[in-house]
Amino acid sequence: MKRAYCWRCRKFIVVIEDVDWDEFDKLYKDSIEQVKKYREDTGSALNDAPVKKLFAPVYRFYEDRGGDSTVGHNEFYRHGERRFGPTCLACGKNFRTSEASFCAECGYRPGAK
Ligand SMILES: [Zn+2]
Ligand SMILES: [Zn+2]
Repeated sequence: MKRAYCWRCRKFIVVIEDVDWDEFDKLYKDSIEQVKKYREDTGSALNDAPVKKLFAPVYRFYEDRGGDSTVGHNEFYRHGERRFGPTCLACGKNFRTSEASFCAECGYRPGAK
């Protein structure tokens, strides 16, 4: 199980590892299709669709890997390993992206004096 610091959740979370991403992404997109289909079939508004039920395989996937799914599927979809930057040498949290030149949490900038 790999963890990273999510600045949106303000805590360390379980990441969806790169090896799992394609499978997870497919489940997620299938679930979006299920919601669309449900709405077409029933003519209901998005708020009326049993979104959490339709996304159940996505929740199960994340929970099976030890993730806390209570943040909701829109958030844990952002917990893909590839979306996090490297671990900060100063504070141990993650840079927000792999392109970030400094740590937004503590201000550490690699290479700076
Ligand atoms: Zn998060
Ligand atoms: Zn830092």
